[in-house]
Amino acid sequence: MKEELNTNQEQERMELDEESLFLVSQTFKALSDPTRIRILHLLSQGEYSVNDIAETLNLMQSTVSHQLRFLKNLRLVKSRRAGTSIFYSPEDQHVMEVLEQMIHHAQHD
Ligand SMILES: [Zn+2]
Repeated sequence: MKEELNTNQEQERMELDEESLFLVSQTFKALSDPTRIRILHLLSQGEYSVNDIAETLNLMQSTVSHQLRFLKNLRLVKSRRAGTSIFYSPEDQHVMEVLEQMIHHAQHD
């Protein structure tokens, strides 16, 4: 029984299922855009509205909205309504950790 379980786990490690493979490649694609990297990095520091993001990063609001929709579809960001404002924050800590690791990698000697 225990051996069977181990064999199954090994097979899972050796070969990714199609769905995981697709999601991983889509997620790396999401992280491969400088504007999306800037937005995600900002959101790693707190909740921001579209306005806040646009002003802080000096981007058009339409650009920010477009990229937030993209990131939300991939469940990398989530939104919260407070009165008339909508605030965005990271949805997934794994992906944010990957991003921070990549930024660290880019900056270390
Ligand atoms: Zn490194």
